[in-house]
Amino acid sequence: MSVILEVKDFHASYGKVDALSGVNLKVDAGEIVTVIGPNGAGKSTMLNAVMGALPAGGVARGAVCYLGSDVSAMPIERRVAQGMCLVPENRELFSSMTVEDNLMLGAYRRRQAGDKNYLDQTDVVFGLFPRLKERRRQEAGTLSGGERQMLAVGRALMGKPQLLMLDEPSLGLAPLIVKEIFHIISDLRKTGVAILLVEQNARAALQVADYGYVIETGEIVLEGAASELAANPRVIESYLGLA
Ligand code: ATP
Repeated sequence: MSVILEVKDFHASYGKVDALSGVNLKVDAGEIVTVIGPNGAGKSTMLNAVMGALPAGGVARGAVCYLGSDVSAMPIERRVAQGMCLVPENRELFSSMTVEDNLMLGAYRRRQAGDKNYLDQTDVVFGLFPRLKERRRQEAGTLSGGERQMLAVGRALMGKPQLLMLDEPSLGLAPLIVKEIFHIISDLRKTGVAILLVEQNARAALQVADYGYVIETGEIVLEGAASELAANPRVIESYLGLA
């Protein structure tokens, strides 16, 4: 199976605060890989650093190999151009623009690159998110939390990424909507995109993922097939509870 992403001996810090200490992880083609862990464990830092988008003051070192090449010195625009895409925790939509216009922004890079088929993903996105199709002319700022998350993922898909990184897609959403979002994440498999999913909702994340990592204070403390992690007593005790 071909490797999409491999992060090796990865470190990140903010001044004197070490956020990641020697992380190794891998995402294979067509796979959903999840990283679970408590608040402040370093999950967002990892996705931002892999994308080359650490906030000011953040420094990363170690290798980020994407499709076989080390991209750790590459600026974010080139990583995006090569098919890496991050949907950040705050979703970063343009509130006063319509759903459709937000989606078009996701296709902007392909359009700039002269790709005449840059709108070909619209049907795929509307197929995955019929609710966005119904609301295509509605301003993004008037969408519900769940719809905003769908739009953020839909916009990312417009760029036809090969690696989609999702930072806590279920954050702040009601349980029924969380269920819907995870259902959609599972459906994304059909599009062939590889997914790196960071979540505090360990139960749902391990249900959709193939493989998982547990991160605590910047270090991977456990890894394995998602079904094995879900049955691991340590994971059950710390992250799944008894329910
Ligand atoms: P959460 O689930 O709460 O978002 P997380 O697992 O994503 O947590 P990070 O946000 O990556 O964790 O934070 C990892 C560590 O780095 C924490 O100790 C945090 O306080 C610190 N940190 C994160 N961002 C910054 C920043 N911009 N400046 C300084 N320290 C930061």
